[in-house]
This record gives sequence, C-alpha cells and structure tokens, in this order.
Amino acid sequence: MSYWGGSKWWLHHSLASLNQSLNGKLQLFKGDATLIIPQLAVAVKATAVHWNRCYEPAFLASDEAIDKQLAKADIPVRDFEGTVLWEPTRIVKKDGSPFKVYKPFLKTALAADAPKKPIAKPRSLPVVSPQASGGVTLAELGLLPKIPWDAGIKASWTPGEMAGQEMLRSFVAGKLEHYGQERDFPSHDVLSRLSPYLHYGEVSPKQVWQAIGAGKKTDDNREKFVSEVCWRDFACSVLVHFPETITQSYNARLKKLTWRQDATRLKQWQQGQTGIPIVDAGMRQLWQTGYMHNRVRMLTASFLTKNLLIDWRTGADWFLDCLVDADLAVNTLNWQWVAGTGLDAAPFFRVFNPVLQSKKYDLNGDYIKAFVPELRHVPGKYIHEPWSAPSKVLAEAGVELGKTYPTPCIDLKASAQAALDAYHKTA
Ligand SMILES: Cc1cc2nc3c(=O)[nH]c(=O)nc-3n(C[C@H](O)[C@H](O)[C@H](O)COP(=O)(O)OP(=O)(O)OC[C@H]3O[C@@H](n4cnc5c(N)ncnc54)[C@H](O)[C@@H]3O)c2cc1C
Repeated sequence: MSYWGGSKWWLHHSLASLNQSLNGKLQLFKGDATLIIPQLAVAVKATAVHWNRCYEPAFLASDEAIDKQLAKADIPVRDFEGTVLWEPTRIVKKDGSPFKVYKPFLKTALAADAPKKPIAKPRSLPVVSPQASGGVTLAELGLLPKIPWDAGIKASWTPGEMAGQEMLRSFVAGKLEHYGQERDFPSHDVLSRLSPYLHYGEVSPKQVWQAIGAGKKTDDNREKFVSEVCWRDFACSVLVHFPETITQSYNARLKKLTWRQDATRLKQWQQGQTGIPIVDAGMRQLWQTGYMHNRVRMLTASFLTKNLLIDWRTGADWFLDCLVDADLAVNTLNWQWVAGTGLDAAPFFRVFNPVLQSKKYDLNGDYIKAFVPELRHVPGKYIHEPWSAPSKVLAEAGVELGKTYPTPCIDLKASAQAALDAYHKTA
C-alpha cells in the first residue's frame, strides 16, 4: 500500500512513539506484508495473529491473502473492528442494503446497540527476540522527506498514542462546550483535531464514544460531535459497499461532465495563490501544517470543482498527499459530496461563494491573516475581497495586487455560471 507525504510523516513519528512505549522493542519489516507476516508468524511459532480490520480495498485484499497463508500454517487469525464504531456491514437498511444517505444511516446507528466498549491495554506484552531476521530500522523505512519541508507540521502536531489520548481528554474537558456553536469558524480553536489519531488508531472511535458519553441523554454539543464522528463510519460503509467511488463519480449524469485541464490554475490553487484570500489561507494551512479546517476544506474543494471546474479526483489526490489525516474513505466521500457527484452530495448547482463564506465565518479575517500574512494590514471590511478596496487603502496596507498578492485567478460570478452551464450540458 502506498502512503502519501503527510501520512508518511505521521507514520514515522507514530512508530517512533510506539517503539518508545514498548521500551524500544518494536520490530519493523519492509516489503510485501502478505509474505512477511506469515513467514514471521511461523518463525516465532506464533499461536495466533491479531489485527484490526482496515476497509480500503487494498488492505482487505492483503488481509485475505495473509489469512490464507496463516491458515495453511495452522495459525489462527483474530481480527477486530477497532478502527470504526460499528462493522460497516452492521448499519444497513431493514432489507439489508446499504444506506446511501447519511441522515437515516445516523438514525439507525444511534438506535443500534452501542459500540463495543474499548478494553484496557494488556499489562505486559511478550516480545520476540529483536534478532527476528530481516528487520529494518525506522530510518530505513524512508518515511521522512528528503527535503525538510516538514517544519510547520512538526510545530503543529505530536503524533502518538499518549498525545492523542491527551488531545481527547482536553477536548472533552474544554473545547467540546463550544463545539456546536463555533465549529464552523476556522479561527476559533474548538475542533478536536483528533482526525490523524483516529486514522492511525492512536485514539479509537470507541474511546471517543465513551469519553463523550455518547448514546446517553446528552447536550447539543455532544450530539453534534457524535454526528460528526459517525460520518467516519458512514464513509467507511460507503467505501465497503461502493468501492468504485474511489475513482468514479457516483452520479451517473455527472460522469459525463467535462472537467477542465488547467495546470496553471491547479498550481495556483495548490500553492494558495488564487487571489481569493479564504481559499489561499486554507491551501496554505494545508501545506504548512498538514491540516485544514473542515469549513475551509469545503470552500477550497468547491472552488476547485465548481469555479475552476477541475476534476474532484485531482483535488482529492492533492489532499491525500498533504493531509496528516489523509483517509481514503473520508476524503473520497467528502470530495464527492462537495463536487456534487457523490451518493449523499450537495446538489451540483449549489456553488459556495467563498467571499460570502469568508465574511460569515472569518468576519475579522483572523484566519486569513494567520496564513496570508501579506494581507494582515488590510482592514477587515476589505480583507475578504482586497480587489474591491480603494487603492489608497491597499497602499496603506502595503498591498499591491498582482505584485505582493495575486489578483483573483478567476471571476467568481462568471465561473459559477460556467459551472452551471457545464452541468446542464450533461442532461
Ligand atoms: C474535501 C474534504 C476532504 C476531507 N478529507 C478528509 C480526510 O482525508 N481525512 C479525514 O479524517 N477527514 C477529512 N475530511 C473531513 C473533516 O474535514 C476532518 O475530519 C476534520 O476537519 C478533522 O478535524 P477534527 O478532528 O478537528 O474534526 P472534529 O470536528 O473535531 O470532528 C471529530 C471527528 O469526526 C470525524 N469527522 C468530522 N467531520 C467529518 C466529515 N465531514 N466526514 C467524515 N468524518 C468527519 C473525524 O474523524 C474527526 O476527527 C474532509 C473534508 C472535506 C470537506
């Protein structure tokens, strides 16, 4: 399985942290898991092999192959649903078919048996000799970048179980109280930032469920948070039942949409140089920290697919490459949702206006100023659309459009209309 840039960075530090908690006894191997794991299990005379199921098609296939090899060696497999709240085939319609819409999925999930309680970690773990043949060092896995572009990510994150558990504890004790009201405001620090820990199993969704007391009579903040966490399970269910959505638009009509090939604008989007401040702030947050606020993920994805009319798969690939929480199921579902091509998707003709969204959710421009410092002296009234500011105001703020900060790479109104026209052509 291939990993992407931000994910490799996380994996490296996550493994280092795991090694530390195992007193330096973690052993690493590099190569084909379907060969290495069965060989190793036989070599150390394992009485069973345990793992948590991952539901990406490539992982399912490799698990099956490992399972077969171990069966030949008479070594039983014990696999668990530790990465999700419920097994993806558990929350289905009465007739057994999968949900395609989130609301009824959530309703059924919340009415189902509560997710299994997490169990405490074992007090001790017998570790086989570090000489087990063929092992490699963490450095030999080559997960860190050769060119050190990771300073911002390093400053933003501490991977590992200990840090993840602390993040969960402090979120429940503090930020959760403001979650429902403020979660859409990117400069308000109220989100849990648990996504990479959940992806890497450093925090289990079942621990989250317990920690927030989900399923009991709770308050609006908790309910909202639970509904977000359950989106993860929905994404996993969609991946398992509709794996073709990784590469294909689900909506048959929109399969016919002609996307634009525009390498220049794609690069402007990737580098946060579109000239639309909220979009640039988001894309720079992604590049610098390996993360982007959820509301801004929606805006930047909408800008790419609806204003620039660039294929959602191109955007999804870029996100997977940069995000420390890159998750094939969740990323695919959300990109198809924003693009309007997915099964439970915003209608294609609903185009976010990034300027209005910016005025609504980043009123004073604090988020923009944090990631687009060249606009930090522009008054709040103009920061969302600096091209509308009188030249005197721009001069006083030290901004020269086209020189110190780009002019918009596209006309927002005309491009939104062009997207609608392209959509109507698919009929
Ligand atoms: C275009 C796009 C791409 C995305 N790609 C990813 C991705 O690759 N990996 C990823 O983990 N999330 C992705 N998301 C979902 C969401 O933006 C992140 O999960 C969230 O921003 C992570 O921050 P948090 O942990 O502070 O979230 P919180 O708001 O604190 O939410 C708690 C948890 O709920 C889950 N969650 C929240 N929102 C969503 C959602 N919309 N869909 C599914 N699960 C959700 C996450 O596991 C998250 O950690 C994407 C969203 C969009 C719009």
